[in-house]
Amino acid sequence: MSQPTKLVLIGPPGVGKGTQAMLLETRLHAVPLSSGAIFRSEIEQGTELGLLAKDYIEKGQLVPDDVTIAMMSRRLRQDDVSQNGFILDGFPRTVKQAESLDTILLELGFPIDAVVQLIVEDEVVVERLAGRLTCPKCGATFHLKNCPPKVEGICDRCGTELMMRADDHPDAIRRRLVEFREKTAPVVGYYASRGILRPVDADRSPEEVYSEIVRGIRV
Ligand SMILES: [Zn+2]
Repeated sequence: MSQPTKLVLIGPPGVGKGTQAMLLETRLHAVPLSSGAIFRSEIEQGTELGLLAKDYIEKGQLVPDDVTIAMMSRRLRQDDVSQNGFILDGFPRTVKQAESLDTILLELGFPIDAVVQLIVEDEVVVERLAGRLTCPKCGATFHLKNCPPKVEGICDRCGTELMMRADDHPDAIRRRLVEFREKTAPVVGYYASRGILRPVDADRSPEEVYSEIVRGIRV
């Protein structure tokens, strides 16, 4: 097998990050490391860091950099990661986190191959996300255009009336996109100045996006 893949994925909600992480995991065996999932697992296991993080999350505050970094650092040092590589998602979120990540990976002798920035026009994301319908009873999801239920407004699985979440309304989505760009701009700038930022046009099929990501890391 070739070398382990070590990537950071950056992209707004609805850009297809989850799909790409899944393809990279299935085909290149890189370990998906989502900060959200790692937080949840530390909290479930009741570790000291998990309990600390939980405190902040319950108060509706951001988990401080040092707690986040300590959790991610521990996960990055596990064997599956050194053997198979990683796909980071949701981390680093700040320049301080990005600098710490560099320090950790330097120590491990395991530098990032590339930071993939998935880019689409806002309106494409709005079209993808708006129109998402959820069943309040069984949790099934549909989409007005891409995956409509057989009977308009009714869940195929359980017959309940479908709902659109407030978050999935076009204006709410546009606001989230602006917020995302403002928050990630410093981290994007940091990796651009390091010369490892790879912007990828994500307004294409998942296969095309995947091929371009892989081309970018195998040069
Ligand atoms: Zn249902």
